[in-house]
Amino acid sequence: MRLSSFVERIGGEGAEAWEIHSRAVERVRRGDDGIVLSIGDPDFDTPADIVEACIDSLRAGNTHYTGLVGEPALRQAIAAGHRRMTGQQTTADNVVVFSGAQNALFATALCLLDKGDEVIAPEPMYVTYEAVIGASGARIVTTPLRRETGFHLDLDALAAAVTGQTRAILLNTPHNPTGAVLRVEELEAVAEICRRHDLWLISDEVYATLTFERTHVSPSSLPFMAERTIVVSSLSKSHAMTGWRLGWTISPEALVPHFANLTTCMLYGCPGFIQEAAVLALTSEQKELPAMHAELRARRDLVCGRLDQLARVQCLWPEATMFVMLDIRGTGLSSQAFADGLLDDHDVAVLPADAFGPGAKGFVRVSLPCSQEILARACEKIAGYVASLPA
Ligand code: PMP
Repeated sequence: MRLSSFVERIGGEGAEAWEIHSRAVERVRRGDDGIVLSIGDPDFDTPADIVEACIDSLRAGNTHYTGLVGEPALRQAIAAGHRRMTGQQTTADNVVVFSGAQNALFATALCLLDKGDEVIAPEPMYVTYEAVIGASGARIVTTPLRRETGFHLDLDALAAAVTGQTRAILLNTPHNPTGAVLRVEELEAVAEICRRHDLWLISDEVYATLTFERTHVSPSSLPFMAERTIVVSSLSKSHAMTGWRLGWTISPEALVPHFANLTTCMLYGCPGFIQEAAVLALTSEQKELPAMHAELRARRDLVCGRLDQLARVQCLWPEATMFVMLDIRGTGLSSQAFADGLLDDHDVAVLPADAFGPGAKGFVRVSLPCSQEILARACEKIAGYVASLPA
């Protein structure tokens, strides 16, 4: 088969990271025991009002093509949410609706980057970034997140990574997989690098609402940053809507016609009935969401509380998100060997965190997708596994 070089650029390690997860899902499908803590998609239902709004919209015949950059009411609702969060003068003209944050990231890379460009991304980083940036022909240059500081930025390394080819910095806060929430001082230092070197900032904020320790600050709210920042976000995590595929960019207005051209040839608009439900999601209060947030916090407290008591492993309490990083270096196993053994012998699936980059070598990522009862059982199994490993 003769294929394009593009297929190489979107393959690679990121695509392989889900192997252990696929294996676990397959076991559960076969009816075997298994607790799947390898994916960031909790068991929460989408709030009922949102589901009803979607059904009503379908019944009312909202089943035709839609505006290429999103329906005006949704763009306005997204802009209003961003104004509330940042105090910026964001309007609907800054917003483009995409099919999830993943799609928005891909579009952003294609519209900002060229072959030979460099994008600085702190690592560990979300597994799709390499392929997303690679798809554009640009390449990622990584800088380390400091495990000693709970995986916060190494600002000196970030500044030192800028070259003549650097076009953008790609930030993810709150962060997957580490759960770190960047502090304002860190964001200000990154903003200063962007302003000094005339760089774009691509800011992946899909976990913005799922914080436990301090509220999320969007770097687009810092002085002179809205004009060089593309905020990428979605309803996936905030509203338990991963399968709806509804995300967006907030960018300088000048970028929007180019996003429109791209959506015309790639997507041709998101479904109107989903957009109508999304308007409701963003403009009315869903009573389920505070309970969901409290439940996530309780799950984090339970899992970290239990894992903290184990000898030879150390648990990193996440400041946000639905992931717990477990430092397993004390067991002498690699991340992959630890995760393989845990799945094969104790039926619990976690992700080898070095799939997110070498900076997470010696860690596994434990998700919080199921009830506290199941998580407690998973913690017992992890404890049994760790105790069974040779000294
Ligand atoms: N960015 C990060 C950091 C993520 O964890 C995810 C989903 N796991 C995405 C982007 C993609 O989100 P969406 O479902 O909105 O495409």
